[in-house]
Amino acid sequence: MQFTVDSIEGSELPIYIGGEWRPSKSGATLESFDPTTGAPWYRAADGSEDDIDDAVAAATGALKDPAWRGMTQTDRGRLLYRLAELIEQNGEALAQIETRDNGKLLREMRAQSAYLPNYYRYFAGMADKIQGDVIPVSKPDVLNFTMREPLGVIGVIVPWNSPLYMMTCTVAPSLCVGNCVVIKPSEHTSASAIAFAELVKEAGFPDGAFNVVTGHGATAGDALTRHPGLAKIAFTGGTETGRKVAANAGRMLVPCNLELGGKSPHVVFGDADLERATTGLISGIFAAAGQTCVAGSRCFVQAPAYDEVVDRMKQGAEAIRIGHPKDEDTQLGPLALKAQLSKVQKYIALGQEDGAQLVTGGRRPQRDDLGEGWYFEPTVFANATNDMRVARDEIFGPVASVIKFEDEADLIEMANDTAYGLASGIWTKDIDRAMRFAKSVDAGTVWINTYRAPSMMTPSGGFKESGYGKHNGFEAVRELTRLKSVVIDHSGKTADPFVMKLETGGS
Ligand code: NAD
Repeated sequence: MQFTVDSIEGSELPIYIGGEWRPSKSGATLESFDPTTGAPWYRAADGSEDDIDDAVAAATGALKDPAWRGMTQTDRGRLLYRLAELIEQNGEALAQIETRDNGKLLREMRAQSAYLPNYYRYFAGMADKIQGDVIPVSKPDVLNFTMREPLGVIGVIVPWNSPLYMMTCTVAPSLCVGNCVVIKPSEHTSASAIAFAELVKEAGFPDGAFNVVTGHGATAGDALTRHPGLAKIAFTGGTETGRKVAANAGRMLVPCNLELGGKSPHVVFGDADLERATTGLISGIFAAAGQTCVAGSRCFVQAPAYDEVVDRMKQGAEAIRIGHPKDEDTQLGPLALKAQLSKVQKYIALGQEDGAQLVTGGRRPQRDDLGEGWYFEPTVFANATNDMRVARDEIFGPVASVIKFEDEADLIEMANDTAYGLASGIWTKDIDRAMRFAKSVDAGTVWINTYRAPSMMTPSGGFKESGYGKHNGFEAVRELTRLKSVVIDHSGKTADPFVMKLETGGS
């Protein structure tokens, strides 16, 4: 690969449009920072409306090009298989770029890079299995069938916390069904999408099927969501940005898929295996330094188990090894952005102001070897209540608020008393209770005796202010195709247009 950590360091990255790399039209660039030092490490092209126009034009051109439009489903699947192979061969380089850009553990990014090929293979296999239905209309001599068609050009906007993975959730099914994509990565993590473009090109996708314009959200991102050439917007990011994206989409009458923020309830009943449950709570909030949309940041613990679970969480949090994300031993790396560090610090103060008890953490680690990196200790607030700001707002950092509940009714009321509805988890040995919870909780995903267990086959997406639409599985294909109904009259007669015959047996 030409784009590796070494070649990116100190360079100016281009954008990728119509199969070619070039600077932004204005020549503007933006700086990207290394979260372990706070120092800049490369500049990315700062794309503008002009670049977005070019990218959408390239994608629209590819849609009309027989090289893409006329490609058989089997051949599209073959290209996705080839892409999966290339990701596998270059997984280490991609993981190194992601870690350098967003500070996530190299171990985790390696695992993600090892998972991505399977994601593309899954949709490669699906490419020639997308079919419509024959609809049994109650009219003799009439055949009604449906077919699924590509939607067109999809605008894909992703955040910084797992750039390639988030992008893949839309790109793999889009290419599978014959759409073209224009990607706008986060301005904080531009590099991996550009490096990935190289693999898409090498795999043999026609030019224009996959395009990347890096740049700021308020300019390049906004221009993409206002572009009349889009058939759909797939947005992953914060809820407030999601509102702006949906407003633009609404004006254009373009559908969108919104994967937004969360404040997920993660529940422990007194009958649960408390050791397993606490490990679940700890990984649910402290994995990836809490920078995951599904973080189990509201921990609900039943009264009899409350003190023991808080104590176990304290011990577990204090045992977490904080360090450089490239060290094999490290369990918690830095936060990805300086602004994110300031936000977490603000919420520590708000939690204390609202009366939550700071049990552990709440500060930057006092260690010289961590230098100016944006590290923060895993933090546990006990005696939190559902109305406190630490329990209501998405912090997107390593901060758990532990809330006591008495019984199921009490729990469901509190768990659902949130603007969000992304994910949830429950630890209990009582399967009836777990199922009652699964049916009552307002969350797009329910994990029972496990947490943060995603799969490309598992449909996922939020309710309420966590957004709408689904990623993964066949749901993703439904989201990214349009359904056409074809009706054929094979009676040999033409119906009298002045006689209404609705489901009457006539044709
Ligand atoms: P963000 O909303 O600030 O930015 C997300 C993306 O939107 C970036 O590419 C950004 O440049 C772009 N953007 C910003 N303003 C825009 C505008 N006006 N128009 C169009 N695009 C614009 O979010 P973030 O800080 O990058 O990411 C963290 C958020 O993402 C959290 O809220 C997290 O929960 C959410 N997230 C959700 C999921 C999910 O699947 N539900 C997954 C990961 C992250």
